[in-house]
Amino acid sequence: MVWCRCGRVCIVKTSWTDAHPGRRFYSCPIERSRCGWIDWVDPPMCERAVQIIPGLLRARNRHENAIQELTRQVRKMKMYLILSWLGFISIVVMYILA
Ligand SMILES: [Zn+2]
Repeated sequence: MVWCRCGRVCIVKTSWTDAHPGRRFYSCPIERSRCGWIDWVDPPMCERAVQIIPGLLRARNRHENAIQELTRQVRKMKMYLILSWLGFISIVVMYILA
């Protein structure tokens, strides 16, 4: 166990900065505490990984955003389809009753 300067047991977080992408570190369990830097869990990453991982993360984020947008569009199109069928059925019923 690693202890924070405030006396609490540290938690492990993951850095997503460009300098240390995916590297785990010990942190104070209190959100936004002023305990400061504790220590790394993982050894330093090789230069190649530091160069490649941020680009992969950005690409993944772009793809996730695209998926969310497409999901919204599919939901909207399903709603339009249901409304068009309700309109069609209303017209047919009015025609039959007239
Ligand atoms: Zn602390």
